[in-house]
Amino acid sequence: MDSTAGPLNQLISDALAVIAPHVPRDLTWPILLLTAGLATTIWLLRNGLGAKGADGRVRKLPLRQFLLPVEIYTHVSARVDVGLYVFERLLRPLWVTTLLVGIAPGTEALVMDTLNALLGSGPDLDSHYGWMLLYSLVTLLLYDLLFFLIHYAEHKIPALWAIHKVHHSAEVLTPLTRYREHFLEGPIYAIGAALSFGIAAGLFGWLFSDSIAQATLFNIGFFALLFGFNGSFRHYHVAFHYPHWLSKWLHSPVMHHTHHSYLEHHWDTNLAAVTSIWDRAFGTLYIPARDEYTPWGLGPASQAQYRSFWQNVSGPFRDWSAMIKGKSRSSAGLHE
Ligand SMILES: [Zn+2]
Ligand SMILES: [Zn+2]
Repeated sequence: MDSTAGPLNQLISDALAVIAPHVPRDLTWPILLLTAGLATTIWLLRNGLGAKGADGRVRKLPLRQFLLPVEIYTHVSARVDVGLYVFERLLRPLWVTTLLVGIAPGTEALVMDTLNALLGSGPDLDSHYGWMLLYSLVTLLLYDLLFFLIHYAEHKIPALWAIHKVHHSAEVLTPLTRYREHFLEGPIYAIGAALSFGIAAGLFGWLFSDSIAQATLFNIGFFALLFGFNGSFRHYHVAFHYPHWLSKWLHSPVMHHTHHSYLEHHWDTNLAAVTSIWDRAFGTLYIPARDEYTPWGLGPASQAQYRSFWQNVSGPFRDWSAMIKGKSRSSAGLHE
């Protein structure tokens, strides 16, 4: 790089160069076009069926209303999504820089130091396609596990559910709903991401000494594409099912429709980000039937308190203060 950068600057820019490609992609036009293309294919194959209305029920529609239903995109929930998205984007640089740049390299160093101390210096393997694939897979599985564990805790612990509720207060699903989260939630997931990237990088850094860069390069496309596509389509109102056998390995987009449903038998299911492996291991996997009814949101009992932008931003503080005052009920029925 250039000679004007001081050591600290250099350190941060080096760290960002390594970390940034691992950060899952934002909503991008290619991903949105892929979503629209696949949705059109579903419309053709199913003769106009497959899109859900704001009520969470599948109906037959002409193509334009199938892809961009007015009742969903003018819904108050979709408008609040935009506000929460903008708010999240404004705050994001703060925690991405602090947490990812701070925690991931530290974790990587800790893992490498620990392995060096326990097993001596690494075997200095030569990287090839198979190893690169394995590195991608390990990163993905670790990321998915950390995501699962954080998400599980958010669903089971009332003080955390108070934050995560904002994501579940969406009454309709649009690709922007993926970013509908309380501003306190981003940093929690960033810690999980930083830890998983750090552990995988430390392990493979130890195995390959200096030749880790190539595996990292490969990792970008594989991981970002899967995550970007899944994140976008699973918050789209069109029900995209995978064959049953594949759903046992990868979350199909429609499996997140049930995650957002307020029906009790759908609560706390399908908690991972990409694969079905962790949900299967922890008994929270739910593969919905074709055209299964999934009404979205918090349900009639508490939806009215989570409709506007400010209701959502202030939600956790209201809940916490009620908990402190002892007004909260037992942890059973968190969704109410
Ligand atoms: Zn959730
Ligand atoms: Zn969601």
